[in-house]
Amino acid sequence: MECREIIKLMEKLAPCKYALEWDNVGLLVGRDNKDVKTVMVALDSSMAVIEEAVKNNVDMLITHHPLIFSPIKRVNFNDPIGKKIFLLANNDISYYAAHTNLDVAVMAHIAGKMFGLTNTNSLEESYSETVYKVSVFVPVSHALKVRDAMTREGAGYIGGYSHCTFMGDGKGSFKALDGSEPYVGLVNELTTVDETKIETVVKEENLDRVIKAMLKVHPYEEVAYDIYKLENKIDEKGIGIRGYINNDITLEELANMVKDKFEADTVKVCGNLRKKVVSVAICPGAGKSVIKNAIKAKVDVLITGDIDHHTALDAWEAGMAIIDGGHFMTEHFIVDYLRDYLINSVYNSDDDLFSNNRKLEVIKAQEKEPFTVLN
Ligand SMILES: [Zn+2]
Repeated sequence: MECREIIKLMEKLAPCKYALEWDNVGLLVGRDNKDVKTVMVALDSSMAVIEEAVKNNVDMLITHHPLIFSPIKRVNFNDPIGKKIFLLANNDISYYAAHTNLDVAVMAHIAGKMFGLTNTNSLEESYSETVYKVSVFVPVSHALKVRDAMTREGAGYIGGYSHCTFMGDGKGSFKALDGSEPYVGLVNELTTVDETKIETVVKEENLDRVIKAMLKVHPYEEVAYDIYKLENKIDEKGIGIRGYINNDITLEELANMVKDKFEADTVKVCGNLRKKVVSVAICPGAGKSVIKNAIKAKVDVLITGDIDHHTALDAWEAGMAIIDGGHFMTEHFIVDYLRDYLINSVYNSDDDLFSNNRKLEVIKAQEKEPFTVLN
């Protein structure tokens, strides 16, 4: 398979447009026309992982945490980042990162399912589609043809509905000037026509296609149409998840569940262990940035990683307990998920995304929680 086909699969799962502004995702090193037989997936782009990728002759490496975050001014092979870039490039390994786009697309949702959360919502909205209202004036005779051409190209999607349009009839008027060739009426005479105004919403990604399709089937020489950018938020997505846990459970029991689900040897808890918890938020990885939102949402407990002393105390005093399962352990499940996703997509999907050569080996890097806890 070609690297670009695997990138398409990754993009299908976690579109790069979901990534937060400060993030750096996508193909960061290498080429997308590389023939890929083996992919390695990992959480971190550590030296150990990259050396393992080289040793295993992998063609493509996909990690959650990006190797390059902030812009780099030089690639010096003696620096850690420069050395990693050298190892990847010198061994022709295409390197791809899926970070906050993966968080937004699936990370917290999978964690929510692991804990059986119900009535779930995003903890912090971070993405919504830019959407436009398009209205066009069409002679009544052509209204359905124009509407169908627009909806065929993706106009009219609202939530779980497609083909959402509104049509209203009225009188359109115009005077064709010298040199024009009007579809109806005469040059230099005021013409009035029975017209239909079609209104619909269009996502930014479909806008060009919808307008082109509309103009193609519209009979007028000059088409009157308007495009407005809307303030509506549709297809909102975000970081973290909050919901309700069905079981009658104490904070201590939930903390043990965190250990079990994330296969963590230890977890840290800040809160009253005997207190019952009902509303639960989960933000795998580093969750400090979502604490305000979790407190605002009045959840009983936030399950996350990388929480410092003062932040945990502040949260407790604001009425919210913290279970810190560690950055690595609360996210590491995503590596298995990515491996299974790639294998299933390649071998079990009818997707015509691929060339005929559907052969791919996906291996997991041998990563371990970087911290050792001494008791
Ligand atoms: Zn992380």
